Amino acid sequence: MADYDYDLFVIGGGSGGVRAGRLAASLGKRVAIAEEYRFGGTCVIRGCVPKKLFVYASQFPEHFEDAAGYGWSVGETRFDWTTLKANKDREIARLEGLYRAGLDKAGAEIIESRAVLEGKHEIRLVGEDRVVTAERILVATGGRPNPHEALPGHELCITSNEAFELKELPRSIVIAGGGYIAVEFANIFHGLGVETTLVYRGKEILGRFDNDLRSSLHEAMEAKGIRILCHTIFSRIEKRGDGRFDAHLSNDTTMTVDQVMLAIGRKPNTDGLGLEEAGVATGSVGEIIVDEHSRTNVDNIFAIGDVTNRVQLTPVAIHEAMCLIDTLYRDKPTSPDHDMIATAVFSQPEIGTVGLSEEDAAHEFAEVEIYRASFRPMRHTLSGRQERMLMKLVVEAESRRVVGAHVLGPDAGEMAQLLAISLKAQLTKDDFDRTMAVHPSAAEELVTMYQPSYRIRNGKRVD
Ligand code: NDP
Repeated sequence: MADYDYDLFVIGGGSGGVRAGRLAASLGKRVAIAEEYRFGGTCVIRGCVPKKLFVYASQFPEHFEDAAGYGWSVGETRFDWTTLKANKDREIARLEGLYRAGLDKAGAEIIESRAVLEGKHEIRLVGEDRVVTAERILVATGGRPNPHEALPGHELCITSNEAFELKELPRSIVIAGGGYIAVEFANIFHGLGVETTLVYRGKEILGRFDNDLRSSLHEAMEAKGIRILCHTIFSRIEKRGDGRFDAHLSNDTTMTVDQVMLAIGRKPNTDGLGLEEAGVATGSVGEIIVDEHSRTNVDNIFAIGDVTNRVQLTPVAIHEAMCLIDTLYRDKPTSPDHDMIATAVFSQPEIGTVGLSEEDAAHEFAEVEIYRASFRPMRHTLSGRQERMLMKLVVEAESRRVVGAHVLGPDAGEMAQLLAISLKAQLTKDDFDRTMAVHPSAAEELVTMYQPSYRIRNGKRVD
């Protein structure tokens, strides 16, 4: 066997790359992992983690309002963006330290440099101007926000990357997109007191989610004061003399705002990575094409996470990393399981969902039963808040299997995690029915909806 510098070289120190590097090193493999920016990747540095911290920050105004009904008088409140950012930065630095320490302890070599492929086994460390070799290479370079180059003035817009680092909180913002990031940031900015507009090209925000969740969230966001313009796109963005921006819209109106944000999807991070030099095949949006074991068309080069554009979620990248290590180093070929992935949108109210939407289930099965409850959660009784909670189970009538579970409301993400176990285990509605409720809780609705709200037979609703 040829003598390589490393058994495994990982390009990209995000969730997937770090997990794979750490596990391989802990199995005694000679591992190096290169990262050009910061360890932790999008999730830790400028994604899920800081986002959730910002979500918490943006929820306080409603908590202050709700406190009155419970007898509290909250004095004058004031928000300081600089404090939030500094505290967020401190927490992110702590987490980055943990990622590094984990790699270090396992014995992986940490390389702070951009790394690009020069051949099947050769990697150039750009920052150090040297070439190293590895028996196997794992590409886990993630993704980056779609910059929307076709939009005149796109360079004036921020993306989620910059949203975490703004020097000042804008007074107004318009955000393009109707996916996770657009919706989550619209709620964050609105909660922090920013006049917020969401501009979405389609009929309803959050395509691919259950329609009930989409329209109910839309309604709740508008009720809070977020403006949502559907069937609308930016036509051009211009900077004004006063430093603000004019966002010209397809509906022939112009909005003047402090910031314009693009949240229109993320692209695999493969530009200039040397994939062609190494002979690695990519797809139409630049994603690395892999087989069921995350192997590219080059037999010693693998790819996991967002760069493969399978399912762009942190836990999926981590799962793919663990399957890969089983396959390569534990003599246990394992394919990632992408079925029944629970997910949360940290909107306000929050969405938690797993399995098929009502629409997809109706398309797939001859008959489905829908169990649906819409109610005001108990905590809103004394607060006087009118926001409602939605819970929905989608059941395949013949087998009685629960094939979809959807929640909109407080802690929906936490519920989705637990619901996912039941759905993954293919439990039936009867299993739900014979489960004792936890009382008083909002989640008890999930096991007390005994009668279907309606059925869908051959694609048609029958009440
Ligand atoms: P999404 O894929 O969720 O949404 C992209 C949105 O942009 C869609 O509404 C899409 O519209 C719209 N869009 C795409 N192209 C254009 C265009 N040219 N002009 C106008 N609108 C356009 O991407 P995000 O950027 O929100 O997030 C990226 C990924 O990150 C997500 O897929 C998700 O997996 C992950 N993520 C997960 C989070 C979580 O788990 N809570 C949080 C944040 C991100 P249409 O619907 O019509 O296609």
